[in-house]
Amino acid sequence: MLVDTFSVAGKADTTDYKTSKFVYNNTEVEMKDGHAVVTPTHKELEIRISQHAPKTGLMLVGFGGSNGSTLLGGLLANQHNITWERKDGVCNPNFFGSMIESSTVRLGTTHAGEDVYAPFRSLVPFVDPKNPDQFMLGGWDINNDNMYAAMQKAAVLDVTLQHKLRPYMENITPMPSVFDINFVAANQEDRANNVITAEYAKEMLGEEVDTTGRRWYVEVIKAQMRKFKEENNLEKIVVLWTANTECFAPIIEGVNTTEAELLASLKDAEKSKHIAPSSLFAIAAIEEKVTFINGSPQNTLVPGVIEYAVRNRSMIGGDDFKSGQTKMKSVLTDFLVSSGIKPTCIASYNHLGNNDGLNLSSPAQFRSKEITKANVVDDIVASNDILYKRPGEIEKPDHCIVIKYLKYVGDSKRAMDEYTSEIFMRGKNTIVLHNTCEDSLLAAPIIMDMALCGEMLGRLEVREPNGEWENFHPVMNTISFFCKAPRVPDQTPIINALPAQRACLENILRCVAGLPIETNMRLENRVM
Ligand code: NAD
Repeated sequence: MLVDTFSVAGKADTTDYKTSKFVYNNTEVEMKDGHAVVTPTHKELEIRISQHAPKTGLMLVGFGGSNGSTLLGGLLANQHNITWERKDGVCNPNFFGSMIESSTVRLGTTHAGEDVYAPFRSLVPFVDPKNPDQFMLGGWDINNDNMYAAMQKAAVLDVTLQHKLRPYMENITPMPSVFDINFVAANQEDRANNVITAEYAKEMLGEEVDTTGRRWYVEVIKAQMRKFKEENNLEKIVVLWTANTECFAPIIEGVNTTEAELLASLKDAEKSKHIAPSSLFAIAAIEEKVTFINGSPQNTLVPGVIEYAVRNRSMIGGDDFKSGQTKMKSVLTDFLVSSGIKPTCIASYNHLGNNDGLNLSSPAQFRSKEITKANVVDDIVASNDILYKRPGEIEKPDHCIVIKYLKYVGDSKRAMDEYTSEIFMRGKNTIVLHNTCEDSLLAAPIIMDMALCGEMLGRLEVREPNGEWENFHPVMNTISFFCKAPRVPDQTPIINALPAQRACLENILRCVAGLPIETNMRLENRVM
């Protein structure tokens, strides 16, 4: 049974905050001569979130791409309840694929033994994407197509829907952006007809600019953000990179390994060439105290950027949307390893024909993707030395990733995977998967969820009883459910397994709502 809303007996929230007390049960482990001594710990904590969901603008870098135009079209269709016809009938808009909008949490069981569920979004006051007065999109693209033309080129949404969306989208044009061909594939150069120039900078900043280095780009991006916020009467903005995958930026001592180096390099003609456009957006967001999320695989968040964000207490997160093949991998590998089965060989092939695929057909950009896709099994494998124990060496499954550009399939990315595992008594088990991904339709709701979560996390605070309220860490590993390669604070383990990632987010929000964490023990069903 599904209910829309719920209240927790005996809990009264103020109009300003939803606040709960809870006991955080954990363990401390001490290693003594190879033996683990485990001490259960219990900490009383309070957690709260402001009840006011601010009017939020999500600013996408790469707005005119397949993801950006698909999200805008889908969002507007939902906000204006636009229906459209196809040969299989009339379609209504939905947010399927959004964990926040389309998944549920279990509240408990009635006396009659029926489980009762509520929408995930009912746990805390999220910004409501269906409400145009609460959530809107904007952003940058190096291409000046209006958003209707961009949606047509992306060829993702049904054409009948595109026609209905035309009046809503053809007057929206992305803002000019920073372009550096050294970071993306050569085949992207033709798209770049909407870039920030000295003349545009003068117009935005109201004065002549010194174009030495790349600091001036940061200033222009900040001015663009402020203008967008003001013109649309927004209380908050979130910036998210969904532009082309860049190659990895080199991490060079003296250039970008610390905040001080990074800020100095921005003004240096030579050193600033190593600072990627995506990092410039991150720096601008940090300086404006705006949440920044990286949805592509490259290392936008170089050490200097992370240090800068942490010191400024400005929220950052990423990397790379976990939408299709990798999401499956982080479920399947977790299922195999937690069943005591040993994956020994994982081969993943993709072919796709959209502009992302074209960009990834260049080796340096493919390398960024290969790295985020490959690391996803690491922590799952490391959790089970019973399976992966060869004396003197760390054993890992053989794992390869191949991506090819085949124009014909367009955005319908094909992902083919073979998982070979060792089972009982040296037997072998092989699973073969074929997944037609519909890439941008999978990614668009994830982009929205990341933004809604990123905004919400900025309002979440915890404290010890009567202590000072503290925000969550600026490096938002709480959104790792949505990321192929989750960014985590220093000295923090990376969790890739999808069920653990979801449980983390759900349980934190259950605590805010005043619900017990979901342990799945359900003793009432198991004990007489
Ligand atoms: P796309 O090529 O259709 O869109 C990218 C857009 O970015 C283009 O419109 C391009 O003009 C623009 N762009 C390039 N450089 C820019 C810059 N410096 N500033 C502003 N705009 C710039 O790609 P897409 O399919 O929308 O994917 C976007 C990104 O998301 C890619 O990096 C992709 O790897 C990543 N991603 C996508 C998925 C998915 O399932 N769709 C999953 C994970 C990651």
